[in-house]
Amino acid sequence: MQLPNTLEGARQADQADPLHHFRNQFLFPQHNGSDCLYFCGNSLGLQPKGVRPALLHELDHWAEHGVEGHFRGEMPWMHYHRFLTEAAARLVGALPEEVVVMNTLTVNLHLMMVSFYRPTPGRYKIIMEAGAFPSDQYAMESQVRWHGFDPETAIVEIAPRPGEDTLRTEDILQIIEKEADTLALVMFGGVNYYTGQFYDLEKIAAAGHRAGAFVGFDLAHAAGNVPMQLHDWGADFAVWCSYKYLNSGPGGPSGAFVHQRHAHNPQLPRFAGWWGHDENERFQMKKGFKPMPGAAGWQLSNAQIFSFAAHKASLDLFDQAGMQALRTKSLQLTAFLEKVLMDADGGRNLFRIITPRDPEARGCQISMLTDDRGKVLFEYLSENGVLADWREPNVIRLAPVPLYNSFEDVWRLGTLIVSCES
Ligand SMILES: *Cc1c(COP(=O)(O)O)cnc(C)c1O
Repeated sequence: MQLPNTLEGARQADQADPLHHFRNQFLFPQHNGSDCLYFCGNSLGLQPKGVRPALLHELDHWAEHGVEGHFRGEMPWMHYHRFLTEAAARLVGALPEEVVVMNTLTVNLHLMMVSFYRPTPGRYKIIMEAGAFPSDQYAMESQVRWHGFDPETAIVEIAPRPGEDTLRTEDILQIIEKEADTLALVMFGGVNYYTGQFYDLEKIAAAGHRAGAFVGFDLAHAAGNVPMQLHDWGADFAVWCSYKYLNSGPGGPSGAFVHQRHAHNPQLPRFAGWWGHDENERFQMKKGFKPMPGAAGWQLSNAQIFSFAAHKASLDLFDQAGMQALRTKSLQLTAFLEKVLMDADGGRNLFRIITPRDPEARGCQISMLTDDRGKVLFEYLSENGVLADWREPNVIRLAPVPLYNSFEDVWRLGTLIVSCES
């Protein structure tokens, strides 16, 4: 696709976009009576219009049936997690039995580490990206301590080379190989929250396994953003949240993936709850935990109906649009944003893009590293109806989300940057 050069061209690109109508399925915050330019879908996705009726439906179901709501209706609460499994599995390229929606992300990360971080005096290290999202850093650190090891020696962080902003796959693979003898777990993000780098998860999983370690991914910024093939890539586990690109509302539920190779291994240690127990016997209230096969066997509690209902309304949109079509548009829209930003800077050197310039190595996010003029630019954009986000010390992150952002949004953002006096 030829990237547009004018407002008219941007509007034509929207007309030609087969996904353009999905924009009408979302509620946009307002600024001076019109839609904000919303570029924060990597932080909190917009509300799908289908969420409110889905929530009301469950409230009505509760009002009408009380406890019997667990068994009645098209989507009885008793089995509610099942109504999400297939769509969630499609999103990440997994088999349905490999996926379950439950809890929240960091909780699931800990649950997965209980099963897949089993350090021994000889094999205790975790490899992760330097500057990972803080919750991941704290989870790793506390897990290491919980097992009686020292985070200083047990956690190996991979940082960009001096003068570079992102990681080279060759460096990641080389460090995994170098640490092979003592490595227990490779735990990587899918897309880095700060730089927007999309890691080569297939190669990382293969290298981790060659080293004799387990491999897990935190897909908070990857789920709903980039197509994945978790089953084929062979990761042991993965977790993600649903309130960023998956638009399921603040604090929305998390997804968890456990590879099929672990599905029928009741010996795998885990922290158990009644909802992970064999569902045919769950209400016999007997002693002796017998896990359900697959990811469902890691469930602790009965379904969180309201947050699951919002999640379902959002997953339905992903099923209608399809991840491949979303990726196709995402590549165009992100390339367009990159071009618009470079043009709008006009040689002022207001910022430097730290997101990989290779479209295959990023999702729909561009991170701009600014200098002291950055805050002025960010505030100017905010005053003019742009919702973007600022990450300390000086990065502006912009996410052109293919499900609801338009080429015109991107064009108008560029116009604002040109008009900023900083
Ligand atoms: C957003 C995000 C989280 C947030 O975790 P919650 O448990 O949902 O609060 C954790 N890790 C990463 C990588 C994230 O991007």
